[in-house]
Amino acid sequence: MMIVMQEGATDEQIAHVVARIEEVGASAHVSVGERVTVIGAIGDREELAGVPLEACPGVDRVVAVLKPYKLVGREFHPDDTVVEVRGKRLGGGHFGMIAGPCSVETEEQVMAAARTVAAAGGTMLRGGAFKPRSSPYAFQGLGVDGLKILAEARDETGLPIVTELMDPRDLDDLLAVADVVQIGARNMQNFQLLSEVGRCDAPVLLKRGLAATIEEWLMAAEYIVKEGNRRVILCERGIRTFETATRNTLDVSAVPVVRLVSHLPVIVDPSHATGRPDLVLPLSLAAVAAGADGVLVETHPNPEHALCDGPQSLAPEAFAEFAERVTELVRWTGKVLS
Ligand code: PEP
Ligand code: MN
Repeated sequence: MMIVMQEGATDEQIAHVVARIEEVGASAHVSVGERVTVIGAIGDREELAGVPLEACPGVDRVVAVLKPYKLVGREFHPDDTVVEVRGKRLGGGHFGMIAGPCSVETEEQVMAAARTVAAAGGTMLRGGAFKPRSSPYAFQGLGVDGLKILAEARDETGLPIVTELMDPRDLDDLLAVADVVQIGARNMQNFQLLSEVGRCDAPVLLKRGLAATIEEWLMAAEYIVKEGNRRVILCERGIRTFETATRNTLDVSAVPVVRLVSHLPVIVDPSHATGRPDLVLPLSLAAVAAGADGVLVETHPNPEHALCDGPQSLAPEAFAEFAERVTELVRWTGKVLS
C-alpha cells in the first residue's frame, strides 16, 4: 500500500509512520517529493491492514495497491474455475442453464417444472424450500417437506438441485438433498452463513447483494473460499437503482468485470433482475454475449397461480422457446451447454 503524507508533514511524523509499518514486519520505502512524501509499505497485507495508518498524524490518505481479495482473484488463480456437480459443469467454456420455480409448492408443481426444464435441455433444477420474503405474512416455503419434493424431482430427471439456505441450522437437512447451495441476495453479507457454507462440501451459488459493489460481492465469495470451499458460482441478479421500469437493474457489465478480475464462474439471473417475463430472453442473450457462464431463470407450470414470483416466471411453452434461443447463442459463442 502507499501512504500519502499531508503537505508539510514533519520528519517525526514520517518516521512514526515508518516505525508503525516496520512494527508488523513490513518494509517502508520513503520517497520525498517536492511537495508531498509518499511511503510505500511492502509486507503481509493482513498485518498491514490491521494498522490504522490513516489515523497517524500527518497522513493524508492510504491507497491500496493490491485488490482486497486474493483467493477469488485471477492473480492468484489465472485459469477459470470449472464447477462440476453430478456430471454437469459450469465455467471454463461450460454453460449452465439453471431453472425452476421460485418456490417449491406441491409435488405436482415441482415435477411439472422439472420435466419442462429437463425437456428443454436445462442443466440444473432450482427451487426454494426456504424462501426469503420481504413480508413476514407472505408464503415462506415448505421447509424440509419442500426438500423431499426436490429430491423426488432429481430422482426422476437426474437434474442436480440448487436450493437456498437461509439459516445454518438447516444446513444438514439441506445438504441431504441440495447439490448446490444458494445464498440469496439478502444474505450476501451474512458472514457467518458464508463461513458455514465455506466449510461444506457442496458448491455454493452466491447471489450479488441488492446494493453490493462488485468488490463487496467478491469479498463475500472470499469468505467462502477462505474456509476451503473453492466451488463458488457468482450470480448477478440485478441491483437497486433509481429505475422503476424493472424490479431491479441488471448490471450486465458485472459479467465481463468479474471475468477479468476473478476465476470464478459468473451467471446471470434475469428473472429477479427484471421481474418481467418479457425481458428474460433479451437479457439472457445479453448475458451470454457478455460472457456469462450460465443463466438462472424462473419457470412455473402455471405462473398465474404461483405462490411466489409468478409475474416474472416463464410458462412452459415460453421456457422451451427461451431455452432454444439461448442454446443457439451459447453454441455460437463456442461454449457448450453442459
Ligand atoms: C430467489 O432466487 O428466488 C430469490 C429470492 O432471489 P434473490 O436472493 O436474488 O432475491
Ligand atoms: Mn424468486
